Amino acid sequence: MEKRCEISWTELPWYPHIDAEKCRGCKTCFKFCKYGALAFNITARKVRVKYPSRCQAGCRICAGFCPIRAIAFPDESEFVDCFMKRLSN
Ligand code: SF4
Ligand code: SF4
Repeated sequence: MEKRCEISWTELPWYPHIDAEKCRGCKTCFKFCKYGALAFNITARKVRVKYPSRCQAGCRICAGFCPIRAIAFPDESEFVDCFMKRLSN
């Protein structure tokens, strides 16, 4: 039988860090995030994480599209540990 592994955001906060120094404001990440976690700051002309709790655990879509690799994520081993513990319960 298929097992579902749902991890609450409070248990494992997962959201990207956008390096504001590097960001060129191209909005590519913003366009590809389907969950509304990101926002474009018109004044600064940069994207920032406005609603981190909307971010989906394990998702890395925005980072994959950033042409200058300005987006990073938490330590993946922490995410994998949490995921494996849930699967074994
Ligand atoms: S990791 Fe996924 S859900 Fe989170 S901000 Fe990036 S595209 Fe959106
Ligand atoms: S894709 Fe990268 S450079 Fe473009 S707005 Fe997002 S973080 Fe900035």
